[in-house]
Amino acid sequence: MPDTETPPEGGAAHRFEAGLEKRAANYVPLTPVSFLARGASAFGARIAVIDGERRITYASLYDRCRRVASSLSARGVGRLDTVAILASNSPEMVEAHFAVPMLGAVLNPLNTRLDPATIAFSLRHGGAQVLIVEAAHAGLAARALGEMAEPPLVVAIGDGGIAGSLPYEGLIADGDPAHAWTGPGDEWQSLCLLYTSGTTGDPKGAVYSHRGAYLQALGNAVTFGLSGESAYLWTLPMFHCSGWSYPWACVAAGATQVCLRKVEPGEIFRLIAEHRVTHLCGAPIVLSMIAHAAPQERRSFPQAVRVAVGGAAPSSTIIRTMEEMGFRITHLYGATESYGPATACLAQPDWAALSDEARYQRMARQGVALATLDAVTVTDPETGEPVPQDGSRIGEIRLRGNTIMKGYLGNPDATGRTLADGWYATGDLGVWHPDGAVEIKDRSKDIIISGGENISSLEVEEVLMRHPAVMFAAVVSRPDATWGETPCAFLETKPGADVPSQDEVIAFCREHMARFKVPKTVVCGPLPKTSTGKIQKFVLRDRARELA
Ligand code: ADP
Repeated sequence: MPDTETPPEGGAAHRFEAGLEKRAANYVPLTPVSFLARGASAFGARIAVIDGERRITYASLYDRCRRVASSLSARGVGRLDTVAILASNSPEMVEAHFAVPMLGAVLNPLNTRLDPATIAFSLRHGGAQVLIVEAAHAGLAARALGEMAEPPLVVAIGDGGIAGSLPYEGLIADGDPAHAWTGPGDEWQSLCLLYTSGTTGDPKGAVYSHRGAYLQALGNAVTFGLSGESAYLWTLPMFHCSGWSYPWACVAAGATQVCLRKVEPGEIFRLIAEHRVTHLCGAPIVLSMIAHAAPQERRSFPQAVRVAVGGAAPSSTIIRTMEEMGFRITHLYGATESYGPATACLAQPDWAALSDEARYQRMARQGVALATLDAVTVTDPETGEPVPQDGSRIGEIRLRGNTIMKGYLGNPDATGRTLADGWYATGDLGVWHPDGAVEIKDRSKDIIISGGENISSLEVEEVLMRHPAVMFAAVVSRPDATWGETPCAFLETKPGADVPSQDEVIAFCREHMARFKVPKTVVCGPLPKTSTGKIQKFVLRDRARELA
């Protein structure tokens, strides 16, 4: 035995354990807040956030967050208290993602497009002690607060106009820039509360941990290639799954975040050109807006712009259109429950030999696990066993790892159901390809069963999106006396395009898909969408049922 090794008392511990315990020097609970502390000392003068004429350096961002944390702490906000925020993609929204966790408190970003009753529900359910409100949303906040018996303390960004509110800049002015934050005692401690958008029923509050957010931020930074040279444009709502973790990912990478309050194509092009934006994220609807921008809204720019798309299935058509415009697409898939992106469609070596059309179809697959996710699988709904990786057997997509939510706040039943058997059950149905990529065919409730055959609504939509007049397509089931259900297509056409007749669309589909999958009914008009740009299929299912 080497001299250096002293047998431990009791003689039990292994030499690779004895004397090698965790210490403060080598084991620090993971928290995304540490990215900002490090950024401020490593490159304090670099621009962290751009908002209109405002420029906030890393040093100043850290200073402002510590001030906000100290002021909230002075008002009694502390460990595991809830601080809600109703704000657009603004510097204050970025600050909240650091200042609130600095206190060990839980940040609850609220969807600014919800109705007052749902906002009030979230504030009550989440137990918010504080609500930070941006002036633009003061009316909505006031109506929500009016429905509450015990409203939280309100902090107003800008001229909020809410009676009794504290000014946000007052928190900054009074705050202590040297505020000593300690981080969570335990990295499993709750950090964020995110209500799902409710396309599947009542909003459920997914709870994130410091550990999960830290890992997710790094996973995203690596997957999306963020660096200190990157400029990230906020086309994704920051209230959605904590902006897919990008407020933290950008700071970890030392990137610059460019705020955007309203998603308009002209503004997107202007900011891309003026701030040399290199990265942006969004749902397919954001890509459609960019792709269909009017000529006077477009600007040219010399840099490569990477666009991560997710939140709903992008068609190969929109991927192709964007790539042909010079954007580089990364397709991501995930849910609120998985801190946003959990898989990415990584390029495979055999893609080089494919035709453009085949390659864009590959890019529309949801892909493989991010580096920081433990695993993705597709399981047979009957047996729970993984389906073969043959690209044809349909099963439920399941995810596992440190970037899956802790559970739903105050909802042990839903938590137990969703996180049963060692996996997060996504409720998405898909196939598993031989190269490891998963591909979504449908959400389980959206699949259409016609004459006993399963029809993937996404597959039919993928074909409809290739029709030159179609901008958005949604296919839902319509009850049918003979077939049980038949596919019913709802189409939103491109601006200025001739609206195609039902017969023409059906003929187009017949050329491109098996007969039984062809929609029997086609309706053209604007499609109902959620605040995060998803098409509300439950609304369309109701409409389909009511069609004469
Ligand atoms: P909600 O469940 O309320 O719509 P989420 O944002 O959590 O809110 O939605 C997650 C769901 O969105 C996924 O389970 C999946 O059905 C869909 N989704 C997300 N990304 C993609 C994608 N890249 N392709 C297809 N569907 C996606």
